[in-house]
Amino acid sequence: MRLADRLARLGTETAFEVLARARALEAKGRDIIHLQIGEPDFETPAPITEAAIAALRAGSTHYTPSPGTMALRTAIAEFVGRDRGVKANPTQVVVTPGGKPILYFSVLACVNEGEEVIYPNPGYPIYKSVADFFGAKTVPVPLREENDFCLDPAELRAAVTPKTRLIVLNSPHNPTGSVLRREDLEAVAEIARERDIWVLSDEIYSHLIYEGKHISIASLPGMADRTIIADGYSKTFAMTGWRLGFGVMPEELAAHMGRLMTNTASCAASFTQDAAIPALNDPRTWEAVAAMREEFHRRRDALVKGLNEIEGVSCLTPRGAFYAFPNIKKLGMGSQELADYLLSEAGVAILSGASFGSFGEGYIRFSYANSMENIERGLRLMREAVSRIPIRSS
Ligand code: PLP
Repeated sequence: MRLADRLARLGTETAFEVLARARALEAKGRDIIHLQIGEPDFETPAPITEAAIAALRAGSTHYTPSPGTMALRTAIAEFVGRDRGVKANPTQVVVTPGGKPILYFSVLACVNEGEEVIYPNPGYPIYKSVADFFGAKTVPVPLREENDFCLDPAELRAAVTPKTRLIVLNSPHNPTGSVLRREDLEAVAEIARERDIWVLSDEIYSHLIYEGKHISIASLPGMADRTIIADGYSKTFAMTGWRLGFGVMPEELAAHMGRLMTNTASCAASFTQDAAIPALNDPRTWEAVAAMREEFHRRRDALVKGLNEIEGVSCLTPRGAFYAFPNIKKLGMGSQELADYLLSEAGVAILSGASFGSFGEGYIRFSYANSMENIERGLRLMREAVSRIPIRSS
């Protein structure tokens, strides 16, 4: 088969591969506990589902403008204003099928081949994958456990060159659950302003913070002009399968991203866009979001406590998202080896930290988007399986 060379540069998300392996084991009759998947295990709040059904019945089944309906773009602009103090016009909003296209379009629209993209390592693998795919040079900045998995501004500054076009931030962070502090964001903003660099701020977990409140870098002085906020409905409202996301960015860039939408998906599904307005404006949906967050909080505490009770494992308390990223270096197994071992020996599906980049080696990622019962069962099975590994103290 003759294929384009660039396909060799396109990465993937291991979560989907591990899911396929876990499903294959299940098909053979194995009982698997899924702690690998990054999607809320809750139902979409009823007012949103009801609004989508009503929209379908009312005939909302046709194309919309590529960047989204003006009603939804207006609702999103107002939402980011009151939610994170980012003043935006509806023309600065682009609605997409899921938040992911915004990541893809940002590199496509802002970075030439050979120019540089700085991304967090460990980090969501799609940033590097799409930048590699489009021929950009990818420059990792490590997020270290010693620094609570936050980006170190000095390391960021050292990574910047005259060819840097885009810095990717993700707070709250997948896979570590870290949340950037105001001083971190101020330091990044200073570098971006000084060196005229775009910031792609992936804020998809902004409503899953357990202490304090989310700060968007776009709300800092001079940053709205150079920030692309990527956000969406998947995580906040348990709507992963609806495929609905949005970007907020300077108007001129939004017009180009609208054209990228015309050239790719045409538009996000019309009835989902209709339902996305009450999702932001109906107080009942926010009550549901608060209840989900509370339950995630409970699970986080149980998971972190349980992990820290396993000999050879230590885990920081994540401040956001629904992931824990324990250090497993003392177990004497590599991350992938341990992930394979836990799947085959304990029936516990988790992800290798190394699948989020080289600085994730020595860690594994748990998603606590599963019931408390399954989390506790997974911990017990893991503890038993780990007790059979001879501990090699480092
Ligand atoms: N960004 C991060 C950090 C994620 O973890 C995910 C999903 O796992 C996404 C973006 C994409 O979300 P979606 O396309 O479902 O909106």
